[in-house]
Amino acid sequence: MSEAELVLRSTRVITPEGTRAASVAVTGEKITAVLPYDAPVPAGARLEDVGDHVVLPGLVDTHVHVNDPGRTEWEGFWTATRAAAAGGITTLVDMPLNSLPPTTTVDHLRTKQKVAADKAHIDVGFWGGALPDNVGDLRPLHEAGVFGFKAFLSPSGVDEFPHLDQEQLARSLAEIAGFGGLLIVHAEDPHHLAAAPQHGGPKYTDFLASRPRDAEDTAIAALIAQARRLDARVHVLHLSSSDALPLIAEARADGVRVTVETCPHYLTLTAEEVPDGASEFKCCPPIREAANQDLLWQALADGTIDCVVTDHSPSTADLKTDDFATAWGGISGLQLSLSAVWTEARERGHGLEDVVRWMSSNTARLVGLDTRKGAIAAGCDADFAVLAPDETFTVDPAALQHRNRVTAYAGKTLYGVVKSTWLRGQRIVADGAFTEPKGQLLSRT
Ligand SMILES: [Zn+2]
Repeated sequence: MSEAELVLRSTRVITPEGTRAASVAVTGEKITAVLPYDAPVPAGARLEDVGDHVVLPGLVDTHVHVNDPGRTEWEGFWTATRAAAAGGITTLVDMPLNSLPPTTTVDHLRTKQKVAADKAHIDVGFWGGALPDNVGDLRPLHEAGVFGFKAFLSPSGVDEFPHLDQEQLARSLAEIAGFGGLLIVHAEDPHHLAAAPQHGGPKYTDFLASRPRDAEDTAIAALIAQARRLDARVHVLHLSSSDALPLIAEARADGVRVTVETCPHYLTLTAEEVPDGASEFKCCPPIREAANQDLLWQALADGTIDCVVTDHSPSTADLKTDDFATAWGGISGLQLSLSAVWTEARERGHGLEDVVRWMSSNTARLVGLDTRKGAIAAGCDADFAVLAPDETFTVDPAALQHRNRVTAYAGKTLYGVVKSTWLRGQRIVADGAFTEPKGQLLSRT
């Protein structure tokens, strides 16, 4: 390790082989070695000893709506990436909506990259969008470096991003499979949604009834059928309905290439606790009952669900009205996701290694960044979150970094305080103080 410039030392470093006392040697932007705890520090290297704080690989959040440019009053790259950095996230992949333009052509991708370039506090990649009329744009976007394509099977919430019907889905998926790409899908069936009771108003039970589980289950079944027929690779976004788990597990056992994510809010908040009119809890698909949540945790434990991602999707506060039917749907979770998931995970007997697998290693693998991100191992980027896992804090909206400080977690006491976040060898946040943006734009490799 004679060339190390930095040695990060802790009694608890989470590596792919488990948690151990170690000294992590860093040169430039890369981890060069994971050494024994008491390995001598080479002359000229700086030692950062974080004691008993846990060093984990920076989280990789593959589901974030930054909304920049075009709806920057909802969220922007500067604020979103600061919130992410404060929460121990070092890589995010931006969704193709709700920015204007959406990321549906190479020109639009270039526009977004230009906007993000000097505002990103963490590394940022991009998903493309699959629309009814842009099949011809998919391959150029793939070649330009997007990590895959998002499609909706029901209305997205914004007019410029229409959803695909089954025929259009088949066409886009065939095209994407043709170049070995990945389709990620918001899976709710529009016919089941239309058939559900649509009462509107402030009652959460009415909202929940308007987005039933079978809308998810039906859409996922149809997606799996298409993936099977085309031998295509698909990913189910933000799974909420536990009823869909058996069919997903069965498809995977059959060799269908389907992966699944869920979100902190489905894992830590329940329908039973949502106050009427509290649309900071509104997202689609919705937060469901506690019994449903238990099954999602079971599916994380047995590997049916691969990843946990935020689906951070903010709006201005005025769009979060007390009518669940018309309020903006989206929960802002970037800064709190690690602590929220860890708080519930520890309660349920999971370790931080599990959280790292769900929120860093598996998400990195989803987007093919696993040779660079999601692990503390020689050759990987020196991205770290330093966490005090047994310290608690109470969520104060005023302390949040995302643009509109609306949160479903206000007043909750959470375990896990992020002490510092490191991006490619540089400390970018320490005790709430940020450096200038040092994020890079990432492309599919
Ligand atoms: Zn989303």
